[in-house]
Formats: sequence, structure tokens, C-alpha cells
Amino acid sequence: MVENLLYVRCMYYLDDYWSKAYGENYIKPRLIVYTDSIDLSVDGRDKKITSTCYLGGIVFINTSQMNQIVGTSAAARVYVMAHEVGHHIQNLLTDLDMVKQRQSKMIKKGDTVGANRLSIRCELQADYYAGTFCRYLNKISKDSDIENISPDGIVDIIAATNNIGDDVLLGGNYSAEVSDHGTAEQRKRWFWHGYNDDNFSRQSIYDLRDDQL
Ligand SMILES: [Zn+2]
Repeated sequence: MVENLLYVRCMYYLDDYWSKAYGENYIKPRLIVYTDSIDLSVDGRDKKITSTCYLGGIVFINTSQMNQIVGTSAAARVYVMAHEVGHHIQNLLTDLDMVKQRQSKMIKKGDTVGANRLSIRCELQADYYAGTFCRYLNKISKDSDIENISPDGIVDIIAATNNIGDDVLLGGNYSAEVSDHGTAEQRKRWFWHGYNDDNFSRQSIYDLRDDQL
């Protein structure tokens, strides 16, 4: 499937899944697929977006960055996109606001480690949500026009979680204190948690201790 079409179709199935899992109050995110960078005005301030990310109801997909992270794998692209939509779900549930408020209090007190630990929970929860979506996609794949998440696709997804683990990205500079997205092992684990458990409301990751992540 042509890359941009894959994102559009993936978003269609993400909306389909979340409108059922989240319920009638689900609001669709917007999708912007771009290459290199995009200039935006957010809350009256100019902002340059250069990565694949979620911001204020919009999922931004940077195709050049996507190629670097996941190569040609369609399944891994689906995972990354489902992770970003996971942040949208957190936004709808007001978890993102809760995290931001707690973090700004922590940062005022100089507790950047605490703020990073909250951020890790947020990222791992988005991986969990990505897992629940991939499980759903597998269930419906024979009736859909999006690529099946085959066993090989799962291998690609696991490879992607490895590539974006903080311990891998930061290499020798990694420490638990500076990590804000979780290790490759944690990201893989939370994707699997989601893949094996489609009750997204069951996970209260913010209450878990560090050694339970
Ligand atoms: Zn994220």
C-alpha cells in the first residue's frame, strides 16, 4: 500500500476501534502526514514540528523519520501511529492534563526525575493502547483493506520498540533518571500487555511502582 494511504486507512481503523472501546464520547483526532518539518501556530506561538508526535488533537506523522525508525515495515508504521493515537486517548481521558499539572509542580521543585518517571508511564500506556489496537486489527484483518499484522509484522513491531527504547537511543548516556520514554524492554512489555488484553480501562499505570513497569 502507498505509504500515505496506509496512514489514512490506519486512522480509519483506529477511529473505528476507539469509537467502540472508548464509547460515544470519542472524538476523532486529526492526521497530518508530512516530510522533514512543518510550521504551526499553537496558542499564538509559532512552533516547528520535526517529529512524529501528538499535539492538541493532531497526530503528526513525519515520513522521513518513520523511514529511519521502522524502515519499510507497514506493521511497525501501524504501531507507531497507534501509539500516537494512544496519546489522543490519554488526552480525551484528561490523563495528559493530569500528567502535565503534576510534572509542572515537580519541575518547580527541581524534581526532573519524578517528572521523567511520570512521562515514562504516559509513553508506556500509549504503547499499551497501541497493543490493544493491533490485536483488534488482527481480528478484523481478513475483512479489512489494511495489511494484516502477521507474525513477521509483530517481529517488526518488536524491533521498532527496541529501536525507540531510551536505553538504545541514549546508549552510554542512558540512566533511569534521564529516561522519559522507557527502556526497549519496558516498551515491548507494555505493547504485549495491550496486545493480550483489550480492556484498555483496566490498566492504572500511574499507580504502579517503577519496578512494576
Ligand atoms: Zn509517545
